[in-house]
Amino acid sequence: MKKSFLFLTGMLILSCGSSKIDESVTLQSEEAVQFDRSLMEVPKKADEINGINNAVSAVQNPFATATEIGAIMSFLASDELQGRDTGSDGIEKAAEFIENVFSNNNIKPYFDTYRDNLPDYDAPAFNVVGMLEGNDPALKNEFVIVGAHYDHIGLIAEENGDKIANGANDNATGTTTVLELARYFGKSKSNKRSMMFVLFTAEEKGLLGSKHLAQKLKQENLNLYAMINYEMVGVPLVGKDYLAYLTGFEESNMADVVNSYADQTYAGFLPKAKEFNLFKRSDNYPFHESFGVPSQTFSTFDFTNFNHYHKVGDELSEMDFVHMADLINKSIPVIEGVVNASTKEIKYN
Ligand SMILES: [Zn+2]
Repeated sequence: MKKSFLFLTGMLILSCGSSKIDESVTLQSEEAVQFDRSLMEVPKKADEINGINNAVSAVQNPFATATEIGAIMSFLASDELQGRDTGSDGIEKAAEFIENVFSNNNIKPYFDTYRDNLPDYDAPAFNVVGMLEGNDPALKNEFVIVGAHYDHIGLIAEENGDKIANGANDNATGTTTVLELARYFGKSKSNKRSMMFVLFTAEEKGLLGSKHLAQKLKQENLNLYAMINYEMVGVPLVGKDYLAYLTGFEESNMADVVNSYADQTYAGFLPKAKEFNLFKRSDNYPFHESFGVPSQTFSTFDFTNFNHYHKVGDELSEMDFVHMADLINKSIPVIEGVVNASTKEIKYN
């Protein structure tokens, strides 16, 4: 998210498987059970049964765990990566790590290599772009992009002997979310539409990576259905009845649609996100501009639950891996719903 904007904000501010056991169900007499069972003898479609099984197993053995997430975050937000400034040695290490995760999980390069170079940047700068072809003969021609920026601001003014802006929340958390979703779909191959997993560079320099890629893919006439971006999802929202807020909430029906796929209210509206026009402040926006298709960002940073934005204090120790695992595991049926819907039901209003 662009610095100038949030500096202003800083100046201004500073200042839970909802498959709960239904307690109301009372033990019924054999006849009643008989009766119910006969009602339930309608043959269930394979999809429905699979859906139920997936939901049950997703609760019983969740895909993403706090331990795994902690391991990924420990590397991405480590001092060794020196705050992953665009063009730095630190971000190069992050890129190699991402490429390894992709190649180990059936995620192929979308271009000749994973690296989509920014032609006019004064240091080696590139997005990392992977793809997973869809399993449906028709829908595989349509794409869904799942993205996040992997750069941060590098070294900044020293504070208590520390000058590394580690960028744990901003945006090692979004990067980790995209990597875990890539790992899930690379294994399950449960996507009818084709998917592109993208880690953007130079977001902190003005959305340069996403602008470059959006324009390039538009020129190539990519059939883009939707773009879903993750930004600063390391700390849970407090006192909200939803898991993450969606930028540009009122622009489309994306929130309603994804909430229909989730087993709880996944997406919500944050008034501050509208007030500060966050819809335009992250890597979703260039895709909105180039394609005019629903391109929005999920975040859990609400300007009150995290005080280390663009500071050296944006460290691993501030992150909540249990929350991140919960968000990622609940994102799986949401993204599966988006990539498998028989029609493009997410639309701008
Ligand atoms: Zn950011």
